[in-house]
Amino acid sequence: MAEKTIFKKIIDREIPAKIVYEDDLCLAFEDVNPQAPTHVLVIPKREIASVDDVTEEDEEVVGHLFAVIKKIAAELGLAGGYRVVTNCGRDAGQEVMHLHFHLLAGRKLAWPPG
Ligand code: AMP
Repeated sequence: MAEKTIFKKIIDREIPAKIVYEDDLCLAFEDVNPQAPTHVLVIPKREIASVDDVTEEDEEVVGHLFAVIKKIAAELGLAGGYRVVTNCGRDAGQEVMHLHFHLLAGRKLAWPPG
C-alpha cells in the first residue's frame, strides 16, 4: 500500500495540527508555514490526490469544501476578503498529493500570483 500523505496522517490523528473545523467530510487546519496572517488548509477526508483526480463521485464533497471555506471565512471575520488557491501538479508547486484548498487572508494579496 502507498505511504500515507502527511494530510492523511493529520486526518488519522497520527501527527498534530491546529484544527479549526471538522465534520464528516472534511477537515481544516492552520498551515504550518503560513503565507499570510490567515492561512488555513481545507481538505476532504476522502483521499483525492489533486483536482486532476476529482471524479463525478467527488462532486458533492468538493462542493461541500467551498461551503465550509465560506463558513470558516465568516467565523474568522475575513470581511476584507480572502483568496482560495489549489495547486495542481508540478508546475503549480503541489507538494502534498492530497487535494487541499489554501484559504489566505489578512493582508493585501498580489495578483497575478507568482
Ligand atoms: P501545496 O504546495 O499546495 O501542496 O501546499 C502544501 C501546504 O501544506 C504548504 O503550504 C505547507 O506549508 C503545508 N503543510 C505541509 N505539512 C504540513 C503540516 N504538517 N501541517 C500543516 N501544514 C502543512
